Amino acid sequence: MSKTIIVSNRLPVKVNITDGELSMQASEGGLATGLGSIYKEGNNVWIGWPGTEVAEEQQKHVTNQLKDLRLSPVFLTKEDILLFYEGFSNEILWPVFHYMSTYARYEDEYWESYRQVNEKFKTAILQVAEAGDTIWIHDYQLLLLAGLIRRELPNITIGFFQHIPFPSYELFRLIPWRSELLEGMLGADLVGFHTYDDARHFLSAATRILQLQSSSNIVTYNQRSVVVESFPMGIDDTKFNDLVLTNDEVRNNISHLEESFTNIRMILSIDRLDYSKGILQRLQAFDIFLQEHPEYKEKVSLYMIVVPSRDTVTQYKELRDEIDKLVGNINARFRTNTWSPVNYFYRSFPLEMLSALYSFAEICLVTPMRDGMNLVCKEYVASRTHNDGVLILSEMAGASKELIDAIIVNPNNVRQMSAALVEALNMSEDEQVRRMTQMRMLVSKYNITNWVKVFMERLEETKRLQLSLQ
Ligand code: UDP
Repeated sequence: MSKTIIVSNRLPVKVNITDGELSMQASEGGLATGLGSIYKEGNNVWIGWPGTEVAEEQQKHVTNQLKDLRLSPVFLTKEDILLFYEGFSNEILWPVFHYMSTYARYEDEYWESYRQVNEKFKTAILQVAEAGDTIWIHDYQLLLLAGLIRRELPNITIGFFQHIPFPSYELFRLIPWRSELLEGMLGADLVGFHTYDDARHFLSAATRILQLQSSSNIVTYNQRSVVVESFPMGIDDTKFNDLVLTNDEVRNNISHLEESFTNIRMILSIDRLDYSKGILQRLQAFDIFLQEHPEYKEKVSLYMIVVPSRDTVTQYKELRDEIDKLVGNINARFRTNTWSPVNYFYRSFPLEMLSALYSFAEICLVTPMRDGMNLVCKEYVASRTHNDGVLILSEMAGASKELIDAIIVNPNNVRQMSAALVEALNMSEDEQVRRMTQMRMLVSKYNITNWVKVFMERLEETKRLQLSLQ
């Protein structure tokens, strides 16, 4: 019986080893939920890194434990993590793909490690893959993988989905290994992105850099038709809706927020620490808003969560310092004995608290400089069980192509963002409900289950198309 093999850099579990003791925690991420319906069926399996360094003598044990969960680990060394993950993936691909190319460091050793780790993943896949299987590879850490597998298994079905943006040709061409990366991606039969623009950029890079022929969204590579399309990813909308309606802890958290924020309207902001998220510009916009609209003093607070991430990298450390400074500066200038303009948290929160905040905040301010999709804005929408609340959303987030009933802003335009806050705070209940109802319908219809289904169906169709063209 043929099977489906899901491959991503990280497995959907957190493996912890303390004093030789192994513990495992299933991830609650949207991707894990969406793909749960697939990888747990039949002989299907999910291949990826277990998220921690595992000593050689423990690898067998970890492999056995994960087997019961239908997970298959690829073990990475400290050096792999440093050069492949932190290096090539996060210091080259991440900045260039998010249009911050000046942050990129094109080191040969990063590339060498990226190639080697993609080979490691290939080996893991070849141990389980058989003719007739379907392989679905995820994200920018594994751009070479489809090509590597294609060489070994020329007829196997491979889908690839990239969760971050694909930049315009002018940015992508800067990467010294641009041809190899494209060739790797074109090993897939179906290449998916969140937005139509990402797909268009990929097609343009492939045709210009590799001089390939393309016709609408199909590019021909080694006599194979590769379909390139957009598949905007959704979330588990029911989970967020039901948390607000039925979870006691969430209800309790909401009551606490109501007590702490009596007569104070909350603007919510949640991101991982990253220069792509526009956190500083967002704070500047809030600063301008407070300066120009003193009538909102003691009436509005920004509740800002920044989740620690990659803080060993210099640019991230510097960003954190700048955020600290700007928050301190705003609070020092505007605070009163009873009110803080910015409630800033540099840590992660449990889902029950996030859910309560989504439900409580009248406004959610999501203004990335670039974001493949951005799930926070969809989670906010899914949590608005009364159909009210206002989403302010950056036009640079993939989600802005779908959530057109948000107030859409340019994240570089701090004056426009400040004006958007005023507009949101004054939006009539009717208008809020009209917009939120539309957005909730969309988030619910195009949820994570639908996303997985549509991608898999399209992958099957692509294979049929290829056969008919042979
Ligand atoms: N999130 C979390 N803990 C927190 C804050 C946020 O797990 O304390 C989650 C949030 O619910 C969302 C994800 O982190 O699902 C962020 O996804 P998004 O696509 O917005 O940004 P990314 O971090 O993937 O760039």
